[in-house]
Amino acid sequence: MSSTNRPVLNDLLSRRVVDMDASGIRRAFELGASLENPINLSIGQPHFPVPQTLKEAAIDAIRDDRNGYSLSGGIAPLQDAVRNHLQRVLGWDPNDPETDVIITAGTSGALLLSALALLDPGDEAIIPDPWFVIYPQLGPLTGGRMVACDTYPDFRMTAERVAPLITDRTKFVLVNSPGNPTGTVLNQSELDELRALCRSRGVQLVTDEIYDEFVFPDALGEGGTVPSPARAAPDVLVIRGFGKTYGCTGWRMGYAAGPSWLVAEMRKLQQFTFVCAPTPLQWGVIPSLELSLDAELEGYRRRRDRVIEALSPYTEISNPGGAFYCFFRVPEHLGLTGEAFVEKAVEHRVLLVAGGVFSTRDTHVRLSFAVPEPVLEEGLQVLCELLAGAATSSS
Ligand code: PMP
Repeated sequence: MSSTNRPVLNDLLSRRVVDMDASGIRRAFELGASLENPINLSIGQPHFPVPQTLKEAAIDAIRDDRNGYSLSGGIAPLQDAVRNHLQRVLGWDPNDPETDVIITAGTSGALLLSALALLDPGDEAIIPDPWFVIYPQLGPLTGGRMVACDTYPDFRMTAERVAPLITDRTKFVLVNSPGNPTGTVLNQSELDELRALCRSRGVQLVTDEIYDEFVFPDALGEGGTVPSPARAAPDVLVIRGFGKTYGCTGWRMGYAAGPSWLVAEMRKLQQFTFVCAPTPLQWGVIPSLELSLDAELEGYRRRRDRVIEALSPYTEISNPGGAFYCFFRVPEHLGLTGEAFVEKAVEHRVLLVAGGVFSTRDTHVRLSFAVPEPVLEEGLQVLCELLAGAATSSS
């Protein structure tokens, strides 16, 4: 058979996957791989190791042969630990039959299951712009349409900005605070207003709180609480993770909690997709819910302050209330897109992620400060020179 008659097998690929553009993220990885000794400020995970108690709990589970499937909703002791945790931090009743918990394969697993459970083809969901990279893909993955809510320049996804985007096809609003890539933390009244809007319009509110443990003291609410639309409101679907919080992103552990009518369907979908979250690692994360991250949080606050101090003389940079990211604007006088600025920084061994990876605009750059402080200092020095337009290309 001549090669021209050979069927082109990649014609078999679905539109869903062909239309998915992964070039932005791939570019960040490629740039990283091309450098020998990079100052890597592009990484979206904590720089500290997994706490010993978690490692031991996971290793014990493996050694004790707790390696088989679990129930699709997760092992009972972790379910109980999550319910007790939500009672402590959000005031939920752990015995309320109207609320349910599902342990998922990472926060990403929970995001996908929630979108699959809520969206029919043509249905809409509202996401922030800038967004976390998975959010827009939930559209092609489910047949739904993700509608971006422009939150520039302050990155606050307020009820006022969301309200005009709600249509009769809107099924859910997805809010992310602290946010990736901006680190923005909405305050309790902004989040309460968003919840009230969703309730009044008959739309489900989903809150991605993967960075809930990384809220700096200046962004905490009354009584030192982490602002959440789900505070005393179990009708909101809360999605949280263990990976970012405890440095175990590769364990793929997260959970969703909220209205039983929704979580029960997510569990059904999990049964036919992921089956369950990795069982030994479900045991592994149980001790995490008792751990304090005060020292790590203080370390990130110090780094946040340092980044703001160093970069704010040169550019517009919103003060992140949480997570470990800063999203700064490429100064207009440089005449560069986010991507062009990132390429320039690479010439000086500094790795960042262009804002266009997270947004319809490519005017900003994401810097992760989840790195040892000397590395951050080295990176900041280069960035200050670049932002001032003073750095020359190092060939
Ligand atoms: N949501 C946000 C806002 C994130 O930043 C990330 C990870 N970068 C995720 C969800 C996915 O996390 P996981 O690794 O738990 O799937």
